[in-house]
Amino acid sequence: MSIEYISKEELDELLSIFEENNIRRQLDFIYERVPENKCERCTECCFGSAQIHFGEFLSLYSYVQGLPEETQKEIAERAVRYELLNPVTLDHKCPFLDGKDCLVHEVLPLHCRFFGMYPEHEYDDLREKSKKQNTSVAIHYARNHRLLLSEEVMTYDVDQCSNNVDEKGNKKLLTQRERDLYYNMFVSLHNRYLPDDILTADEDELNNFTFLYMVTYFPSEELEETRVEIAKEFLEKGTMKKLDALLKKHNFDFGMAKVRSIDSAS
Ligand code: SF4
Repeated sequence: MSIEYISKEELDELLSIFEENNIRRQLDFIYERVPENKCERCTECCFGSAQIHFGEFLSLYSYVQGLPEETQKEIAERAVRYELLNPVTLDHKCPFLDGKDCLVHEVLPLHCRFFGMYPEHEYDDLREKSKKQNTSVAIHYARNHRLLLSEEVMTYDVDQCSNNVDEKGNKKLLTQRERDLYYNMFVSLHNRYLPDDILTADEDELNNFTFLYMVTYFPSEELEETRVEIAKEFLEKGTMKKLDALLKKHNFDFGMAKVRSIDSAS
């Protein structure tokens, strides 16, 4: 089961729970325990939209609300473009990437903190899992929408980071068991604060930040329809008129969650 839609009221309420219970401080407590990843900002790993649990989505969302308005708008536009063009092009990066900097470095999600620390065989397993998911996406587009997704896009993946070594040149690793420990700390934090329906929907899989951002505007079914229409136009004509019109119409941004009406998302 995955998260289908987060209404304006729900999102506002969840953000209030996040602020009132100072969940950021509790997340920091967990983050501080993760061994530091030696990152040289090559940005190779910043190709995709960060994979997160819902608590981290609230953390990122509320953090971005505190950034300058222009930056919020840029992130929002990149997030929408990423989410809607993801199946058809490699011409994008994580929406938080700004040159060589990460705009959310202070609240970096676990997934990004772990990068470069996977034992090789576990990283290979993750790659394999991601390839299988991409294959089912490609089959779904071909069967249901008669659209052929590019093999280059579907098979693209990122090599594991090799910079992450200690002073003696030994690689720092985190096993699945250790990673699960951090995730379990998250789950017990979520259990204390998040409503049951969000917990149930969030428990199995990590979600992309951009997907969760978009389902604060569209129910996932509607998002899927829009994604297919945009992919079709891009693949058949090489244009993005529908996407540009959508961006113009909705004025996506983070502050908007507090004032938009659900009707305006239809
Ligand atoms: S959140 Fe930051 S570190 Fe993680 S992929 Fe995005 S830009 Fe890179």
